[in-house]
Amino acid sequence: MSSSSDSYLAVWKRQCWKCQNQITVVMDITEWRGPHATHSGMWKQGASLESVKRFVQGSNIQFRKTSDVPEGYFANICTRCDSVQGDWFLNEDLTQFTYEAVPKDFSVLQLRKGAVVKTFNNIPELEKYRFGNGKSK
Ligand SMILES: [Zn+2]
Repeated sequence: MSSSSDSYLAVWKRQCWKCQNQITVVMDITEWRGPHATHSGMWKQGASLESVKRFVQGSNIQFRKTSDVPEGYFANICTRCDSVQGDWFLNEDLTQFTYEAVPKDFSVLQLRKGAVVKTFNNIPELEKYRFGNGKSK
């Protein structure tokens, strides 16, 4: 069953906004609360970057300072052109996936104590697991 110390990593493929290269991006969605929710500080808590490196092949997370986030944050970086993939765009992707029964190249890993305990293939499946059927909300 779900435990409060678990963390959840969404993993998917997208085209880099700048060079169109297909890259793998990762987002810690442990604190994510559904489409259009404001989500920031993705790596402040939850999964460690070591776990990401270990379980998500091809991901490239680096600490970057951007004009939107001058204090810096851990961002997804294109492996070809080195561009930051903004959280806003990633949130848009996530919102899109929420409406898809079988999103392409998308999965969510449930991590507990440094191991993957479960994998989800879409967001409704994950939400049902984490929050029940909605009647108790
Ligand atoms: Zn690129």
